[in-house]
Amino acid sequence: MTTNELELAFEQAYGCKAEKMYFAPGRVNLIGEHTDYNGGCVFPCALSFGAWLLIAKNEDKELRFRSLNMPQTYEIPLDAIKPQPDRAWCNYALGCIDIIARRGGKLTSGYNLLYYGNVPAGAGLSSSAAMEVVTARAFTEEMNYVLHDDKAYRTELAKIGQACEHEYAGVMCGIMDQFASAQGKKDHAIYLNCDTLEFEHVPVKLEGIKVVITNTHSPHHLDSGAYNDRVRQCHTAVEQISKVHPIKFLAELTPDDWKEVEGSITDPIAKKRARHVVGEVARTAEAVEALKQGKIERFGELMTASHVSLRDDYEVTGPELDALAEAAWQVTGVLGSRMTGGGFGGCTVSLVRDEAIDQFKAFVGAEYEKKTGLKADFYVAEIGDGVMRLL
Ligand code: ADP
Ligand code: MG
Repeated sequence: MTTNELELAFEQAYGCKAEKMYFAPGRVNLIGEHTDYNGGCVFPCALSFGAWLLIAKNEDKELRFRSLNMPQTYEIPLDAIKPQPDRAWCNYALGCIDIIARRGGKLTSGYNLLYYGNVPAGAGLSSSAAMEVVTARAFTEEMNYVLHDDKAYRTELAKIGQACEHEYAGVMCGIMDQFASAQGKKDHAIYLNCDTLEFEHVPVKLEGIKVVITNTHSPHHLDSGAYNDRVRQCHTAVEQISKVHPIKFLAELTPDDWKEVEGSITDPIAKKRARHVVGEVARTAEAVEALKQGKIERFGELMTASHVSLRDDYEVTGPELDALAEAAWQVTGVLGSRMTGGGFGGCTVSLVRDEAIDQFKAFVGAEYEKKTGLKADFYVAEIGDGVMRLL
């Protein structure tokens, strides 16, 4: 879809011209998985896939929602803004508007809204965060709630999106997805501490190498039960370690500390989970350093080590993600490959040399189909900017 086509679609839907247009990206996490809620860092980047939003005021004191991706439409009076039942897709937008109002924004008019997204559905590349952040960007402007400092403003957009996801979608997510969508920068990844929200843009200069995302198209995903189990097991580890070495988060431990404290964890499952977190925090720091020094091979090795740890210690990969990663590791010209996102379904992310990309797609695709009966999809990622106004 071009922006012209989107403007035309808006006119067809509402019989008037769009006044403004915005875009916010989806994201992929390069390394640092299941570290966020353990006080550790993540390393995501914004993609060129994302969500577009076109808006125009209306005279009817009503928010009208349409999406080119969804058949349902919604009309919500301004004085009746609350979560809608049956997993209505408008919740991801309505929640942002509600939260901006509660933070001091003023909604004085009705609006016609049209969304379009091209983040592959169900792939764990955060179509929901893209939709939230694009809505937060548009309506902070309409509702006169823009912060002057651009960096602080973008962080605020991420917080609005996260609050919406918690309150209107019922998903108790961390802030990584919305943060990447708001603070993304072309050809950079974001080294982010999810606890303090301190972050750094790190250039991803990959000469002759591409970031390739492979979609399992698996129906499995990390459900809230399995997620909450992991959160609890990490908590158990913190409690048991704290008897000998007081900590608030597992991410405070270095690999050297780990050798001293691991004996204090009596629960064998909690011990495995904690070993992943401590290792992953160290791997993420080392990977960022390797990238800064141009040691891309090392970055790739650390991605692969991350997958192994998520498979063996954190146990969130499952047969589909393992089939993709293990096939990728066999291809000459692959520097590293790992699952990305929560796990069990979704995507892997791989670093692949330009000349190996065709072979990568052919071999990984064939191996994957042989092992799982499913067809994988491949996207060569472009690392793009965070949320922006287009019109
Ligand atoms: P993801 O991992 O892609 O974020 P989620 O399940 O968190 O997956 O969010 C997907 C949901 O977000 C969809 O079911 C829909 O409700 C909403 N959504 C995302 N993009 C759009 C869009 N372009 N139009 C309408 N709803 C969307
Ligand atoms: Mg989501």
